[in-house]
Amino acid sequence: MKKLSNSLIRSVLTSECQYFIKLQMDGVKSDPTPAMTNGLIIEHQMIGSTMTGEEPHLPLLKNGALSKVEKDLRDRADYVKSLFPAMGIEILSVQDFIQNDEFAGHIDFLGKVKSKKAIVDIKFSGAKLYDNYFGWPYDLTEKLSEDEFQSVLYPYIMKDAEGEFLPFYYLLIGKTWIRFVKVEFGQDHLDYFLKVADDVRNRIDRMTFEPLKDYNACNSCILRSKCDKTTLVPGVEVVEL
Ligand code: SF4
Repeated sequence: MKKLSNSLIRSVLTSECQYFIKLQMDGVKSDPTPAMTNGLIIEHQMIGSTMTGEEPHLPLLKNGALSKVEKDLRDRADYVKSLFPAMGIEILSVQDFIQNDEFAGHIDFLGKVKSKKAIVDIKFSGAKLYDNYFGWPYDLTEKLSEDEFQSVLYPYIMKDAEGEFLPFYYLLIGKTWIRFVKVEFGQDHLDYFLKVADDVRNRIDRMTFEPLKDYNACNSCILRSKCDKTTLVPGVEVVEL
């Protein structure tokens, strides 16, 4: 069984297409959406690297120059990073691949927060601060999201090497706002996460990895350009009266 990552867990819980899971387990990478590219530009500008190792760009202008949107994102990243000393943040290493016997992942950066070793995940949001849950699609402070387990997964993977659960922070960056969220969890959260992970493994074991064969699902699928089983033409829907 392949080691579970945060993105594989999320896909098994949310994707209706089992072929999508197969492609992901085979290591096929999606073409980033514009929103994902924005986040990657912020990440690259702040820590000098992304998980893919490539420098992300929005489409360049006709004269080959960076677009205003990309320049604004880079300026935003520079500004947030300029606050690190005052926020007590120090970067120790970036994009480390971490794993234990069951799980694997990439952390944006391992650092120190107020002199204490910590894991930090950078996220960019185009939303306003008072949209959704203070700029984020779900309430980070309330409970574990059903498909977002980084805050428990990464400290859990690193516990053997570190001898303790390292603190985990989300650094959420909006266009005009910043939130630095420390996620604290207890044994009940860890038990819940491990139970979900078991369920995910069982679901994968039962999968036949058949493609969904749904034009609309394929049309919005982030692996569409890499998939050899895409449904390119809408089929007939039969409605019985
Ligand atoms: S393009 Fe369609 S068949 Fe291929 S992985 Fe995506 S949803 Fe599945």
